Amino acid sequence: MTETNPYLIAQSQFDKAARYLPDIPDGLKEYLRQTDRSLSVRFPIEMDDGSIKSFVGYRMMHSNVRGPGKGGIRYHPDVTRDEVKALASWMTWKCAVMNLPLGGAKGGVVCNPKELSKRELYRITRKYIIELGDNIGPHVDIPAPDVYTNAQTMAWIYDTYNETHPGRNNLPVVTGKPLHIGGSEGRNKATARGVVIAIEHILPKTSSSNPLFGKTAAIQGFGNAGRYAAELLHEKQVRIVAVSDSQGGIYNEFGFDPKLVGAAKDEHGSVQDTDNISSMITNEELLELDVDILVPAALESQITLENAPRIKAKLIAEAANGPITPDADEILFKNGITVIPDILANGGGVTVSYYEWVQNLENQSWSEEEVNEKLEKKMVKAVDKVLETAKHHKTDMRTAAFIVAIDRVARVALDRSIWP
Ligand code: NAD
Repeated sequence: MTETNPYLIAQSQFDKAARYLPDIPDGLKEYLRQTDRSLSVRFPIEMDDGSIKSFVGYRMMHSNVRGPGKGGIRYHPDVTRDEVKALASWMTWKCAVMNLPLGGAKGGVVCNPKELSKRELYRITRKYIIELGDNIGPHVDIPAPDVYTNAQTMAWIYDTYNETHPGRNNLPVVTGKPLHIGGSEGRNKATARGVVIAIEHILPKTSSSNPLFGKTAAIQGFGNAGRYAAELLHEKQVRIVAVSDSQGGIYNEFGFDPKLVGAAKDEHGSVQDTDNISSMITNEELLELDVDILVPAALESQITLENAPRIKAKLIAEAANGPITPDADEILFKNGITVIPDILANGGGVTVSYYEWVQNLENQSWSEEEVNEKLEKKMVKAVDKVLETAKHHKTDMRTAAFIVAIDRVARVALDRSIWP
């Protein structure tokens, strides 16, 4: 049976790549594959109907070797300790692949935002941040949005931290904030923009100046990552033949206009409320469509040992974290399918989060053009480095990205030295 525990998956990805780095001492490898700090909190909330409910939240710091922890906060009923640990470790490797001076962290609250009112989410967020106390901070660990959290959640986080730490510039405590509360231009679309830059850079160069022209794509998940990936790919004249959300998917061989799909979802709640649908499809069927580009942009372990042999896409760009299990990875590699791994493909999000943090620290505000230009350079450099490493070691891109990342983190750890 396929392994679906994300933390065990993250460790097996680490182990596979670490074998290519014989110069790193075994003891350091053993240290780097595990989580530095693991925090779990339980807190009560008064619900709108006056009842009291308790919630569990986590914040994991996988590593701060290269800088303060950085990583999103997820609100989802399936959040587990091991999932948050996995996501935190992928943040360490992602920040290293992107060559950012940051470590890896992640948070999560076990809750179902679809069944909570805005005021309940507000109270959960404030209480969770109070519970985290000084385990987050502008130079300690800096949260950001993830599944079912957004700029509004980040504004509450900033305000809660600021109220409890008065008298200093606390804007850099969290990124992904609204623009008028210290957010960065370009952050909203940064994850998706990075995905599209990576895809574009990896496709064989054609005589046309746009290697994406006329390609087809299917996108699983229609939130921050998936929706903007669909929009940006559509702008590059990719035919978006299928999209989905938690309710299911939609298909049209002639393609959708993602803006119209988004408008329908905003108004009625799901992509399935869009007009011009040829057929309703399941999330599973979407993954198996015969398309040029597949973008998983929802949750972990979507492509497994079971469905990997049926995947027909030629290129998969992981906007989501951990959507492909290691045994599925092997099948896809054997079948000649290129996978741009999460720790590279979706690194645009944390890169612009880093830019937001820098702007907040320096009391600056960069234009969207400046942010996008910087992002593109970072992304292309990271993709080139991973491609070069994959070629050198004759590995898939995920293993190559891990090799780059582990090497960078280990070198910093060794040069700083183990103290005392
Ligand atoms: P989001 O909350 O904005 O959107 C999540 C989307 O996934 C929604 O459309 C939801 O309906 C859909 N979804 C939920 N369960 C699903 C299911 N079982 N099948 C299909 N779709 C489902 O979240 P997001 O920020 O877009 O995050 C999506 C993925 O991208 C996650 O893996 C996240 O870790 C990753 N990611 C996000 C960012 C970021 O900046 N937001 C950065 C890097 C990686």
